[in-house]
Amino acid sequence: MEGLMQDYELSLQHVLWRVERLHQKKEVVTKQEQGVHRMTNAEMVPRINRLAGALKRLGIKPGDRVATLAYNNHRHLELYYAVPCMGAVLHTLNLRLFPQHLEFIVNDAEDKVLFVDQPLIPLLKPLLGKIPSVQQIVLMTDTPAASHSENGFSDMLDYESLLAAESESYPWPKLSERMAAAMCYTSGTTGNPKGVVYSHRSQYLHTMGVLQADSLGITEKDTVLPIVPMFHANSWGLPYACGMAGSKVLLPDRFMGDAKSIVELAEQEEATILAGVPTIWINTVAYLNQTGKRLPKVHTVICGGSAIPRSLMESMDALGLRMLHAWGMTETSPLGSVARPRAATKPEDELRARLTQGAVSAGVEIRISDPATGEELPWDGVAFGEIQVRGPWIARGYHNGYDPGKLTEDGWFRTGDVAKITPEGYVEIVDRTKDVIKSGGEWISSVELENAIMSHPKIMEAAVIGLAHAKWDERPIAYAVPKPEFKGKVTQEEVIDFLKDKVAKWWLPDEVRFIDEVPKTSVGKFDKKVLRASAVPIDQTIKQESKS
Ligand code: AMP
Repeated sequence: MEGLMQDYELSLQHVLWRVERLHQKKEVVTKQEQGVHRMTNAEMVPRINRLAGALKRLGIKPGDRVATLAYNNHRHLELYYAVPCMGAVLHTLNLRLFPQHLEFIVNDAEDKVLFVDQPLIPLLKPLLGKIPSVQQIVLMTDTPAASHSENGFSDMLDYESLLAAESESYPWPKLSERMAAAMCYTSGTTGNPKGVVYSHRSQYLHTMGVLQADSLGITEKDTVLPIVPMFHANSWGLPYACGMAGSKVLLPDRFMGDAKSIVELAEQEEATILAGVPTIWINTVAYLNQTGKRLPKVHTVICGGSAIPRSLMESMDALGLRMLHAWGMTETSPLGSVARPRAATKPEDELRARLTQGAVSAGVEIRISDPATGEELPWDGVAFGEIQVRGPWIARGYHNGYDPGKLTEDGWFRTGDVAKITPEGYVEIVDRTKDVIKSGGEWISSVELENAIMSHPKIMEAAVIGLAHAKWDERPIAYAVPKPEFKGKVTQEEVIDFLKDKVAKWWLPDEVRFIDEVPKTSVGKFDKKVLRASAVPIDQTIKQESKS
């Protein structure tokens, strides 16, 4: 017997429908150099319709990729709705990537149109002529005329002029829930970044998952400030969650890393929920302590991307800012688990529970598996193994079929994170199988850095590991073996200078340590475990400010 419920396609059009019909008066506020840009949903929706009309006029068809190189701001939010709701695929580009990676990603995704925030044009310049699929670049700025000539991109279109030429209504097409809605690339240990492709169905269900009370619990009464980039895992799904719930949205634009701007925006607009990686909160704590300011309206600070150091959670608690720890990854949309103390957890154990990665989200199934045998391990709080997950918002593959081995034979996604799970169901990450370095919430590929160092004429071998850092979570440290003839004749400064035009500034290793030989495994691979075990901690008294 079949159920007799409607075959209603789960799509982001439903989120847009709620934004338009139910939440007209809610505001989207974007931080600007002077003051803020303020717009109600009632003002934003016609702009979204116009944008869809403009995309259609530019030849965008269902399934075509539309890239963004943008900060968290109102135009980016309009693209978040218009692109998927018209059937195209929103591809958010990570503006912290080095040009070669951006070039690879744009070509791999075959982006047709690229929307860029004016201050980010310098990032595009090295790509011009190398991204043939891109037929049109659209500039997002408040001052169109000046910017064109100023930057020498005469053939760029202007976002506001494009919108002005279109109708305020758009006939949204009927979509299938399995259609791709968005793409986001993630970097791994080896090779190039890989494209994760979200569907309308996965985004819809993920949004519902995010909104649950025991999950992030965002409501219509909230004012949410996502300080997590809109180019990273769809800003943890917060834009759509806010749209569905009807929360007021605050967007920090390019002031994301500036604690003063963030605190002022939160204060003036009465934010109730903040979200960001630990690095953001380390800066915020310092700023609040320095100024004596407080944010009494904020009831929750969502934090993920890296484990929360205990000292950070304690400092935030002391400031009245309650952190909510969550775990996930680009491939999990990203919500995987959330650390709300469970009913059976005793009050004295609450802090410990909040510092775990929490209980798996409703909608996702989790298991830990022995890396050697693949056997499922018990939830006893002792045994640890690789986290594997499955569910409707978990990736089953990457764009263009890269890395098919990420799925187990029985269809679970291998996360590469190693954890134990307590009998209460709290996930505790103990390590990760990957060697990539996570600095300030963003990945640095150790392999790539090694290759760049090894291209130095005086260096024979180099291995890079991430070491703990109070502010950035991890920073790269390079271990380099000079060629015999240069032993004692190559300096750290020389190597770092050499890297400056090869990798992004924030990838530059904090230190280059010279050694006689890189330890190797039985199959001749660099044995980073050995390096890590014997590594002297980073001297954090030097050059901290140069990373920002
Ligand atoms: P990304 O795909 O760039 O978002 O990175 C996902 C990875 O970040 C995960 O596989 C973890 O290794 C790490 N990660 C995310 N959230 C947490 C957390 N709460 N605690 C520890 N590691 C985390």
